[in-house]
Amino acid sequence: MHTTLHDTLVSAIRNIPDYPKPGIMFRDITTLLGNARAFRRAIDELVHPYAGSKIDKIAGIEARGFIIGGAMAHQLSAGFIPIRKKGKLPHETVRVAYSLEYGLDEMEMHKDAVTPGEKVILVDDLIATGGTAEGAVKLLRQMGAEIVVACFVIDLPELGGRAKLEALDVPVRTLVAFEGH
Ligand code: AMP
Repeated sequence: MHTTLHDTLVSAIRNIPDYPKPGIMFRDITTLLGNARAFRRAIDELVHPYAGSKIDKIAGIEARGFIIGGAMAHQLSAGFIPIRKKGKLPHETVRVAYSLEYGLDEMEMHKDAVTPGEKVILVDDLIATGGTAEGAVKLLRQMGAEIVVACFVIDLPELGGRAKLEALDVPVRTLVAFEGH
């Protein structure tokens, strides 16, 4: 029987209740990454609309965005930009505070990672409230990037992240959605 992409991905994602704290259903993509067919299909699907268009760079959010973004960059013959937790990047950086469920954290990008006008795809494994991705959008735009789209394997639509990015005029593309937190 032919399994749909959706079923392949959903069955490759492991669900861990009450991690990292009670009430959160953690969507673990390590099982998807470890499944050659599911990993390949996810990357193929994410890059598909942009094959043949000129994408300069993929910006991945630490840490799972590095894995997915690295594979996408290779496939699209684009460069890769790491967006990292503060204090990890060795050269001059731009920094932004972003909201977590409780409180704030900061993320950074190298100042010379992008040149004005470059076409960039932003990527992470999952979008929940959108606070993390919003911070990354601010960094990229501050350095003059044109954000073509923000891509995520997983959407948690009830948490409103997609709507938050769309309100910033960032198109959003996700492969599967789950109810709840
Ligand atoms: P947010 O800033 O609320 O959109 O959260 C997105 C970031 O937190 C991503 O880097 C995700 O990997 C991680 N994250 C948030 N919620 C979950 C969840 N339920 N399962 C796995 N990762 C999550």
